[in-house]
Amino acid sequence: MPELPEVETVKRGLAPTMEGALITRLELRRENLRFPFPDAFGEKTSGRRIISLGRRAKYLLIDLDDGNTIISHLGMSGSFRIEAGPLSETQLSETPGEFHHPRSKDEKHDHAIFHLEGPSGISRVIYNDPRRFGFMDMAERTALDINPFLYGLGPEPTGNTLSAAYLAERFVGKAQPLKSALLDQKNIAGLGNIYVCEALWRSHLKPTRAAATLVTKTGKTTRQMELLVSSIREVIADAILAGGSSLRDHIQTDGSLGYFQHSFSVYDRQGQPCRTPGCGGTVARIVQAGRSTFYCPICQA
Ligand SMILES: [Zn+2]
Repeated sequence: MPELPEVETVKRGLAPTMEGALITRLELRRENLRFPFPDAFGEKTSGRRIISLGRRAKYLLIDLDDGNTIISHLGMSGSFRIEAGPLSETQLSETPGEFHHPRSKDEKHDHAIFHLEGPSGISRVIYNDPRRFGFMDMAERTALDINPFLYGLGPEPTGNTLSAAYLAERFVGKAQPLKSALLDQKNIAGLGNIYVCEALWRSHLKPTRAAATLVTKTGKTTRQMELLVSSIREVIADAILAGGSSLRDHIQTDGSLGYFQHSFSVYDRQGQPCRTPGCGGTVARIVQAGRSTFYCPICQA
């Protein structure tokens, strides 16, 4: 499943093609993805100009010049690819970003096609999604905060609003396992299974300990909480950085890099040696709330 750094990478990869471009036509090849497309979606977006691309949690935001914003979620298997040039002589096909799981380029899963006219010519941005867990919605930009998908989301793990003091407020008195508390989108927006595992490993914290153990009885933050917050910021920043370099490499090689696989320290490494210097432990896998947790039983306490 694409996580926040992948969505950020997709946004950065699409921006040069989409920002400032005119949507000459939004071609919808079916009526729904996970949910139905908004009413008259094609009609409302065709003829609009794209002002800018943004991201909130794992949602890609496409701002249009009529005050509306398209909200796009990639679900489990969604991806965008760019085709440049007139349809008759398609010259380039690239997929921005690189995912842990391979993505489909099978045309039968091309569900939505943005036909664009931009500063650099004619292009198509194609949304492909074999499993169709992704979706698109549209809302007025001034009302994004009350959109059902975006309402109540916590702060971004990349922004300054995520602080140890903020998380201490959220975690005080909570017996909930630390991992579940970090996956709760009301606490932090856009943090998923992979990067929670990575951040907990980096801060040497056991995923099963109670969230409240990182807070003093009076609700004050602790050094461990501060370490956790800086680890969250670091793993996300590192992954976004890796995503950025994959974009550059991708244009050169047009190949599958799978860079996220190289950058995992603990995720999906069950039975392999822990990478904490001097630890000597072996990465274990347990299941928490139906999802795999990877951690080191020796250096995470
Ligand atoms: Zn270890």
